[in-house]
Amino acid sequence: MENKYNYFNNKPIPEIYGVNCFNDSVMKERLPKSIYKEIQNVKRGDLEMTHETAEVVANAMKDWAIERGATHFTHWFQPLTGLTAEKHDSFISPTDDGRVIMEFSGKELIKGEPDASSFPSGGIRATFEARGYTVWDVSSPAFLKEDKTGVTLYIPTAFISYTGEALDKKVPLLRSMEAINKQALRILKVMGRNSKRVTATVGPEQEYFLIDEEYFNKRPDLILSGRTLFGAMPPKGQEMEDHYFGTIKERVADFMRELNLELWKLGISAKTQHNEVAPNQFEIAPIFSMCSVATDTNQLVMETLRKIAGRHKLVCLLHEKPFAGVNGSGKHNNWSMSTDDGINLLEPGSNPQENASFLVFISAVIKAVDTYAGLLRMSAANAGNDHRLGANEAPPAIISIFLGDPLQEIFENISRGEKGGNKEGDFIKVGQTSLPKLPRDLTDRNRTSPFAFTGNKFEFRMVPSSDTISGPNVVLNTVVAEALCQFAEILEKSNNVIDSINKIVIDTYNTHKRIIFNGNNYSEEWVAEAAKRGLPNIKTTVDALQEMVKESAVELFAKHKILSKVELESRFHIYLEKYSKQINIEAGTMIEMANLLIFPAANRFARELADSVNSIKAAVKDADTSVQEGLIREILSNIKGLKTKSDELAAELKKAKSLEDIVQHAKAFREKVFVKMAELRVYGDILEKLVDKKAWPFPTYEELLFKL
Ligand code: ADP
Ligand code: MG
Repeated sequence: MENKYNYFNNKPIPEIYGVNCFNDSVMKERLPKSIYKEIQNVKRGDLEMTHETAEVVANAMKDWAIERGATHFTHWFQPLTGLTAEKHDSFISPTDDGRVIMEFSGKELIKGEPDASSFPSGGIRATFEARGYTVWDVSSPAFLKEDKTGVTLYIPTAFISYTGEALDKKVPLLRSMEAINKQALRILKVMGRNSKRVTATVGPEQEYFLIDEEYFNKRPDLILSGRTLFGAMPPKGQEMEDHYFGTIKERVADFMRELNLELWKLGISAKTQHNEVAPNQFEIAPIFSMCSVATDTNQLVMETLRKIAGRHKLVCLLHEKPFAGVNGSGKHNNWSMSTDDGINLLEPGSNPQENASFLVFISAVIKAVDTYAGLLRMSAANAGNDHRLGANEAPPAIISIFLGDPLQEIFENISRGEKGGNKEGDFIKVGQTSLPKLPRDLTDRNRTSPFAFTGNKFEFRMVPSSDTISGPNVVLNTVVAEALCQFAEILEKSNNVIDSINKIVIDTYNTHKRIIFNGNNYSEEWVAEAAKRGLPNIKTTVDALQEMVKESAVELFAKHKILSKVELESRFHIYLEKYSKQINIEAGTMIEMANLLIFPAANRFARELADSVNSIKAAVKDADTSVQEGLIREILSNIKGLKTKSDELAAELKKAKSLEDIVQHAKAFREKVFVKMAELRVYGDILEKLVDKKAWPFPTYEELLFKL
């Protein structure tokens, strides 16, 4: 029988690449020229889609999908859970004579009405309107998913309430891309450039862990919460640094091969893969694309990681901190802006004119990140990331920018009106003199910065591994759009654009240089230094989320038409609630594991020891059993600690649950429940090191991290 998953065999990659993606080249091939052109214009936002066009595209899409075995289609959307959602409809349409034909109308392509009442809306639907609908996002290609259940056509959509509020993570993202386009074009126009469109580009690097399915299935904490709630460190951790970029084990390589194949078929350009710092931790990075497409793609990458892992009897953990004491996972959100005529606006130029443009855009990012550091921090907040940001691991919760010494020196010199670099040359004046050459590889070598300029893009490294990258990019696009807007106001009124740019660069640098830090962000000195500079250090999700409903944030999002106050408040509620729910699940799971797994195992072992003392004494009257008796005492005392803490945790949990106010509720989970969980864990982990290994009720870190 043909292996459905493996038609990679004997086929060259270019023939496989994109076969499951209704991309531009398929459209070009299958649509009449005029319709294809129209779609391109719709994509660019220059035209609205007509019903006639939708009909033609729907028909072509259906034929293409059915030829590849599709029986169903679904509108695919991204509700506020951070996951994706879908509802499948079949193409069949009954005829009068009792048969069926396969149909798919333009209306079905453009608009869907999922019964969405159980998605979180933070009260929006209750307040305004009971229903929402999904609309086709023309900018992101439709695709086919094939697995054991068959083949289905997926149509990327945005999810909106009938009164026009955003109910998902896509709508604000598209709006923020529009904002950056609008503001960046204003700047380019005054500089005499005639680009027609500016797009935010994103390339997310995704980290993940793989563990054996057999071990996973024996850990209630991994099953229910995605992370280990108990677990003592094995004698070996990551200290040997032997995993990073190490040889990929065959089992993992086999998994990666199939993963790449599936992604390539979807037209996702999975490019690099390697072992990460922690044992059994890996990374995959596709080539960058337009921001909204990269966001859709990353959702698919996460889903495909999980699916393919299952086929290899592995489980892919996307949680930010699956193992205490071992490096966690994040996403590096590489971000830039590029024009329709192919210019990366964060690429240093080779002549004064281009450099002037580069300096304006990079100044906008510096201004934006400093002014709205709290919002950026908020965009990376979730319960899992609290274990990374602001805990004793990287990156820290303090937002700062790594520019690199050479680039910072250029800013220094411009602001002082001094000679460029250390070499002889003219005074640096933006737009008139050439800049000293920047070294090509301007990467942050110690990689500790949460926001690093890496030569021709910024790398936002705080982004949580398990979540959609939509939120961080909405914030990035919006705050940079705002800074560009302020620059545009000045430049559009200026008689001498170059002089004004010079002044903008100097002012921005002088006002915002506190955000620039090229040193080691993990050091304690930096925490103190950042406090002196007045940079926010927001440690928890509960605190970070408050940033989104501050007046300055509400104004910003309203001004650029990204999210209204109502939309922001609804999101604030949903995310706070999500946080509380997550901690609630973890606490409940811990209590069960402590009482129903660890306690019985430890107690059995204590009894076994006691029995052994009795039988040894019966056999050898004066035998020395002090070691056994000492161990029994130690176990009993830790069992008592375990039980006490588990009861205290249960009490705190009950109290937290009873709080009505949503902020107080979340605060109680963070400040009381979460803290108690850490106390309880200590006893579980001590007992793990005292009890017979064979009798321990679930797999240990040694098995989870080192056996594959
Ligand atoms: P690293 O050294 O961090 O692994 P790479 O240079 O390999 O970095 O790039 C990491 C990611 O950045 C890739 O997904 C890449 O496609 C993406 N990237 C490169 N250029 C851009 C850009 N102009 N805009 C957005 N992402 C980009
Ligand atoms: Mg990187």
